[in-house]
Amino acid sequence: MRQYELVERVTSYDPQADEDLLNRAYVFAMKAHGDQKRASGEPYFSHPLEVAEILTTFKLDDASIAAGLLHDVVEDTDISQEEINQKFGDDVGSLVNGLTKISKLDLFTREAEQAENLRKLLLAISRDVRVLLIKLADRLHNMRTIDFVKPEKRVRISQETLDIYAGLAGRMGLQTIRDELEDIAFRILDPTAFETLTEQLKTLREENGNVIAKIEASLVKKLKKNRIKGHVFGREKRAYSVWSKMNQKQLSLGQLSDIYAFRIIVAKPIDCYKVLGVAHQSWRVVPGKFKDYISNPKQNGYQSIHTTVIGPQHNRIELQIRTEEMDRIAERGVAAHGFYKDIKDKESAEAGVAIPTATSNAYRWLRRLVDDLSAADNPREVLEHTRLELFQDQVFCFTPKGDLIALPRGANAIDFAYSVHTDIGNSCVGCRVNGRHAPLMRALENGDEVDIITSSAQTPPAAWADAAVTGKARSAIRRATKLAVRDQYAGLGREILDHCVERANSRYTQAELELATKRLGYDNVKDSLASLGRGEIKSVDFLAIMDIEPSETAAKPFISPEDEIEQGKLEIRGASPNLPLTISRDTGAVPGERIVGIYTMGQGVTVYPVYARKLQEYEEQPERWIDLAWYSDTSTRMYPARINIVLHNEIGALADVTRVIGKNGANIENLSMETRARDFYNLDIIVEVNGIKHLTKVLHQLSASTFVSSATRCQG
Ligand code: MN
Repeated sequence: MRQYELVERVTSYDPQADEDLLNRAYVFAMKAHGDQKRASGEPYFSHPLEVAEILTTFKLDDASIAAGLLHDVVEDTDISQEEINQKFGDDVGSLVNGLTKISKLDLFTREAEQAENLRKLLLAISRDVRVLLIKLADRLHNMRTIDFVKPEKRVRISQETLDIYAGLAGRMGLQTIRDELEDIAFRILDPTAFETLTEQLKTLREENGNVIAKIEASLVKKLKKNRIKGHVFGREKRAYSVWSKMNQKQLSLGQLSDIYAFRIIVAKPIDCYKVLGVAHQSWRVVPGKFKDYISNPKQNGYQSIHTTVIGPQHNRIELQIRTEEMDRIAERGVAAHGFYKDIKDKESAEAGVAIPTATSNAYRWLRRLVDDLSAADNPREVLEHTRLELFQDQVFCFTPKGDLIALPRGANAIDFAYSVHTDIGNSCVGCRVNGRHAPLMRALENGDEVDIITSSAQTPPAAWADAAVTGKARSAIRRATKLAVRDQYAGLGREILDHCVERANSRYTQAELELATKRLGYDNVKDSLASLGRGEIKSVDFLAIMDIEPSETAAKPFISPEDEIEQGKLEIRGASPNLPLTISRDTGAVPGERIVGIYTMGQGVTVYPVYARKLQEYEEQPERWIDLAWYSDTSTRMYPARINIVLHNEIGALADVTRVIGKNGANIENLSMETRARDFYNLDIIVEVNGIKHLTKVLHQLSASTFVSSATRCQG
């Protein structure tokens, strides 16, 4: 793009733009980069120029475009920041300064550093959101040209893009940019998965014939017939978004509803509802998929109606219905309103100059995140918190008084309680959802009205920290339960001790216990017992210090024969080697899943994934919950997961299932089968896998089998 073309582009949407500024920035940046080259061999200046061009598609102001041209000058040439300030003024200067600062932050490094850098990044962009928009344009161009970069660096940049920048783009409402960033990163990080999926999408497309065009035509016809003016655009979902949905929901490609999506753009909001009516009358609605973001906009200002119907040819199709204005916001996010300008003079905004609600929400989100981050205790929390906030879609729920509480998708009533107020969370004992008693752990749905039941005597069970989804709830629970957790483990320790002493045919007094506590170097009995409960002290050692000879069998009092988790080799954090740990047969549990333990006196701890239905039975016994987590996402060992398969009753079907499981390196631990309908079987299988990714792969491949109608994880 030439100099005059860039200027023309800016003036086409902003006639007041400072042409002189743009021209000077162009020439200055070109000269400053001189004969520097990109990894592709192109002149370096092509990069800032492309960045500026991307920024014109956001229709950003002249200062942002100039800063886009100048964004690498201070970082990569000998020009100083002062010179930029002097020549281009404070506005452009501070944007360039922000970008130079961000460019030094490595977001793919040791956890502690990464968290600190992430905090700095968010601080920099929360001061002036234009810095983020320029940074995103910069990253987009770098990703587009990433194939020229050395393999090692390529992976690092892609991971950082996927972890941080794609989510930020999404949060700023820049959906197309997010899609492109994710797809390129996905291709670099997991080439095999990318290829397989692209191939599968292609096959599906061929099988379905020209399904997009057909549905498009049928939609257009229906609009015409009902005299609604509008446009229809059909598309296939992008590889990464399909892939992450498959992982998230543990579904196969065939089970995913939203592979085909259609956007219907109409003139007025009321038309959106008319189109919705037409669609719902013409085709069967898939329950639970309808979302009205027109009356409840997302935090980033996104508005649209979403619904999924069973279309012609029995394909599930997703419909997004919105007006042109809403579409503009959906595509260009915060940039669509010139909203960034409001941030620039925040004072005037505070002095009463109106800013559109939808957009100020996008900004408020960023501010709130930055505030929450400063309150977080440790780097792990910061990371966890930010990632969740960045990547999860929202659900909107209401308090009984009608206040809107926005939560990440998957959040439950515990998250809701903490979101209302920390005190409500800490004293929460139960909840009513839409007027009925409901389990606290169940994921909330859009529109749920949640009434939290509190009791002043309550301390939250520590394991709630793992069941909660939001960083706010998690850190509050961890803070509130520090002492309670110790007491809980002390109780376990006491039980282990009594059990071992009894087995040794001995007894002890409180004085002897206190003496042992001192000898072990603890201040009080609760601490020493808690160490025993957590397994930091072995029961034999504890007995030895009390001068009790452990009985032969008492040396290993509690190890259950059926689990093979050896002492000292636990892969679960929070589990005590002094207590038997059994994985629930109802569901299984595999590394990488969020888990909790339920303690049963005399039996030990049973491990459940947090979504296991069985957990509802223990909601009123918080003292039995044990805070557990896997140390890593994959193991060298195999763990059980219970899955349900609906299988066509055909010759070779069962053989195919076992073949697929074997081929993927998983074992079948148990299998039972029952007839469901005439042509189908229900298979109930416990497979053994090394972690959640392995399980997802197995489920995915199973569902790809022609004999399999569905393959899903069992919730017990
Ligand atoms: Mn750059």
